[in-house]
This record gives sequence, structure tokens and C-alpha cells, in this order.
Amino acid sequence: MPAAPPPRPGAASTDARRPAANPWFVDLRELGRRAGSMQEIERTLPAPADWRVELIGVPEGAEVRLRLRLESVMEGVLVSGEVDVPVAGSCARCLEPIEDTLELDVQELFAYEGSTTEATSEEDEVRRVEGEHIDLEPMVRDLVVLSLPLAPTCTEDCAGLCVDCGQRLDDLPADHTHEQLDPRWAGLAGRFASAPGTPAADNPEEN
Ligand SMILES: [Zn+2]
Ligand SMILES: [Zn+2]
Repeated sequence: MPAAPPPRPGAASTDARRPAANPWFVDLRELGRRAGSMQEIERTLPAPADWRVELIGVPEGAEVRLRLRLESVMEGVLVSGEVDVPVAGSCARCLEPIEDTLELDVQELFAYEGSTTEATSEEDEVRRVEGEHIDLEPMVRDLVVLSLPLAPTCTEDCAGLCVDCGQRLDDLPADHTHEQLDPRWAGLAGRFASAPGTPAADNPEEN
């Protein structure tokens, strides 16, 4: 009777040992290094805390959806696919809250240690395969943060706020105005109005 193969280690025990305990890590052992081999991954992961710019960002813990294809190439692992990420913030013109979902395309090479790409690139120019895994988080963070608008608007043509009363112009009637005369000019206007010989047609206050 042939000896029974040693029991495969349980999934739980390998997970505990390998860095894939971080949900942003992808273990590359399944993909392997044979050029042309491919692996699809789909993950929904909670957003870390710091994915934001001044007025808009990804709420911490919001669901980031990844649909990625990993492809083994000579130089490393090519990662391509889509990232959907919810964003929340406020309109740069009228300060109304904004909620949206960004749908972003990604394609990046993670270079193997010792590959030509790695050897000829500056430290911060190329993503790297780290041992048996890649870390998707810096890639997705850069993608998302670079896509966030510095001046987000609630609608494409948001008119902003009335400079006199501070209300949203889009909520006000189109003819919203404030009949205010600057007090410094009030006296002058009065003098013109009463000046002898001023034709009434030239008086701008007359409508
Ligand atoms: Zn707005
Ligand atoms: Zn107003």
C-alpha cells in the first residue's frame, strides 16, 4: 500500500502565515511565472482612511470593487481591469454634498526583482513584485487619488452661491437680484437725480 501523501496544510494555517492576510495582497503562486498564464480576481475591499483630496474623497471603509486580470509576462505581472470606488465630498461652488462612484480603468506592470524593467527604473517609477505577492493598495490609491477633482461640482454647470445672500443660485428664480445701492454712491445718485438739466433718460436708476 503506497504511503498516504502528507496532508495538505489547511487553508486557515497557510493564510495565517503568508502576507495575504492583508486583503490588498495578491499571492502570485497560483499565477506562476510562465509567461502568458493568467488569473482573474474579483474583490470588494474596504477603503483605507487617506484616499482623499481637499473637497472630495473615498469614505473610509467604503466598498472598493476590483475586477482585475493578472497576466504573467517576461518582466513581471501585468495587472489590468476596472476599479469602482464610491466618493463623497462637497461642491466647490455651492458646498452642496456630492456622492458619486468613480469607474476607473487600470493597467500597471509589477516588475520582478532582477528584471530589466526593475534594474532600469528609479525606485519610485515602477511597482514591484515583493517576494511571492503584489500589493494592490498603493496602485489603487494612486489611481483613485489622481482621479479625484480638485474642484468637484454638484452639477456640471453649478452656478454657485449668490454673493449677496449666500443662497444657491440654482435654487433661486432666474431673476434673483438684490436691489441694493452702495451707500457710498447713494448721495451721488441723489445729487444726479436732482441736478438741474439732467435728462431723465440718462438716469440709470430709472427703469
Ligand atoms: Zn454646486
Ligand atoms: Zn441673493
